[in-house]
Amino acid sequence: MMYNNPLKKTLEYLKGVGPERAKVLQDELNVFRYEDLIEYFPFRYVDRSTYYKISEVRASSVEIQLNGQLVSLDEVKQGKVKRLVGKIQDGTGTMELVWFKYSSWLVDKMKKDLFKPIVVYGRVNDFNGNYNIVHPEIEAVDDQKKVPTGLFPVYSSTEKLQKRGISNRVLQKMVQSLFDENLPIPENIPQAILDRFKLMNRKEAYKTIHFPANLDELKRAEIRLKFEEFFFLNLQMLTKKMANKQRIKSHPFLQIGDYFNTFYTDHLPFELTNAQKRVVKEIRMDLRLPSQMNRLLQGDVGSGKTMVALLTMLIALDNGFQAALIAPTEILAQQHAQSLSEMLGDMNVNIALLTGSLTKKKRQPILEQLADGTLHIIIGTHALLEDTVVFKNLGLAIIDEQHRFGVAQRAKFWRKAVLPPHVLVMTATPIPRTLSMSLYGDLDVSVIDELPQGRKPIKTLHKTDAHRLALFQFIKEELAKGRQCYIVYPLIEESEKLDLKDLMDGFESLSRAFPLPEYAVGIVHGKQKPADKEFEMQRFKRGETQILVATTVIEVGVNVPNATVMVIENSERFGLSQLHQLRGRVGRGGEQSYCILMTGGKLNPVSYKRIETMCRTNDGFEVAEVDLEIRGPGDMMGTQQSGVLNFKIADLTKDKKILAATRKVVESILAKDPTLSSPELLATRQYFVENLKEKIGWSMIS
Ligand code: ADP
Ligand code: MG
Repeated sequence: MMYNNPLKKTLEYLKGVGPERAKVLQDELNVFRYEDLIEYFPFRYVDRSTYYKISEVRASSVEIQLNGQLVSLDEVKQGKVKRLVGKIQDGTGTMELVWFKYSSWLVDKMKKDLFKPIVVYGRVNDFNGNYNIVHPEIEAVDDQKKVPTGLFPVYSSTEKLQKRGISNRVLQKMVQSLFDENLPIPENIPQAILDRFKLMNRKEAYKTIHFPANLDELKRAEIRLKFEEFFFLNLQMLTKKMANKQRIKSHPFLQIGDYFNTFYTDHLPFELTNAQKRVVKEIRMDLRLPSQMNRLLQGDVGSGKTMVALLTMLIALDNGFQAALIAPTEILAQQHAQSLSEMLGDMNVNIALLTGSLTKKKRQPILEQLADGTLHIIIGTHALLEDTVVFKNLGLAIIDEQHRFGVAQRAKFWRKAVLPPHVLVMTATPIPRTLSMSLYGDLDVSVIDELPQGRKPIKTLHKTDAHRLALFQFIKEELAKGRQCYIVYPLIEESEKLDLKDLMDGFESLSRAFPLPEYAVGIVHGKQKPADKEFEMQRFKRGETQILVATTVIEVGVNVPNATVMVIENSERFGLSQLHQLRGRVGRGGEQSYCILMTGGKLNPVSYKRIETMCRTNDGFEVAEVDLEIRGPGDMMGTQQSGVLNFKIADLTKDKKILAATRKVVESILAKDPTLSSPELLATRQYFVENLKEKIGWSMIS
């Protein structure tokens, strides 16, 4: 539905802009239409409601406003460099105003202002003990209307804009003349919701965000606009989810049969936690539907996601389908294959492992069995996504540690079956709710929020080199109790060689401190051949080595319940989620476990915050919240997804409440009126259709 929206006009038609400036604005700021300019929000405000006295100015780097007279104006030459220097007096003192870049136009204008009352605004500089203002903004007072008062917007700018004479003042004027045209800015949120949340109306909010009368009004405008932004984000996510549900057909799994039941009654090695039971039920319900399951399973490290994956795969088998589990590393894939085979025991389930390091000879029969359907479950790495891998009837794809895979890879599975398989993605990197809502708002989410019983919380300690002897002593005591220990070194790509040396040095000094035959120390790192890695992992698993020196190759998923000590060297070099993942390698059995974070003596504030957080809490969601605060959403989720996270005004770390409120509101709207066709929602629908970030099949849901 199209209608003529004046805000879609391009800016060349705005008073004071014209084609040339319009081009600069577009090139530099991506501001092209009226609506772009309206949404070019100030990044801060200056308070121009008070005047300073020159005698009161005592510090540099503050922005101040003076009221006085220009008493002199000179061009000063120093060698080849010229500058323009003016002096302002306000009855309490004199201050210099300096321009290093200026045009003859400015000189003429300033000459006219000599000995007249003016208002000067700018940042105070300390110049050899004298205060001055460089490149001040100046207004003549005789033109009363022009003297600004109140809060003034400051827009971010670029050098090119400045050069083309589009100063902050000019931007202000452009925005002002846009509002002077008094165009309609139609409301896009239903009136009932505005009333319920006491939100400012849309037009007023836009005006206020640019020209607030005071801080309270500014705050209200911000809340309104953030609400709007999250409102439409949720609308988009939730309609997309609805559309997917209707559009993407898959096989309904109606049976719970022998595979599931036999396993559940005879092979379950432990009682499921309540959270595991709940999640399995959620998945079962979802799989019964004829549409594709697209579900994110979140659970902290050690919460038992693998068991949920296995039970889900057995449901697929019960319905006559094959299932695939893809993991990000060979170690992890191997481990999954091994532990799933063990758990399945003598059950009649054919399961195989497919990784990149498999020889052609070994790969061939697997590929054949996948194609003819004799293989029920395949576990593997990226190798599973290759075109040569063809299934007879893939019904379920499970992606472990999904943060390591891109969306595109998720989609690759779809092509491997006639109807797309159901998809379960699992992540042990807890994602703050705010983020998962906005990134995965189109997925269904299940959360395992409970650890298996009997786990003792891991004790996390921060130590420095000064404690190394005591540390070795402590490790010896733990080993004497029959436990095992990981020692992890950072391996970061830019300085790989140096790091590898650190790792090898560490390995040697540990081998000296823990000598054969009493002790055995193993090593794994990314530069090893997969077979060597696997060999070392298996030795450690079987308890033949007590200490495993490693890089972050063990970060995800590795499961050796007998290991109780995790030492992380140079831990200040790791990110929070990595530290939390590494810590999750211990505390997997019934014994008290420890995570020891080694650092150098001095820590920068961010590293300190990370270490402090790790020592304070074991809760992955809490760790994730701090991580989000430190890194910001774009960095946290990787650039791939950061596009979705480019908010105009809302901030995921600060506006959680607004996000949660809008989510609820949108859910209830869609529950009652999924196509937004009631008259109260007409404007909302219109705006939504016109401003969708990413086109979805709107027709699919209406
Ligand atoms: P993650 O969620 O990190 O993938 P895993 O699935 O590897 O966790 O499970 C961690 C450990 O907890 C494994 O040794 C697993 O056998 C065990 N485990 C899982 N669920 C339970 C349970 N309900 N009771 C006892 N132990 C469990
Ligand atoms: Mg796991």
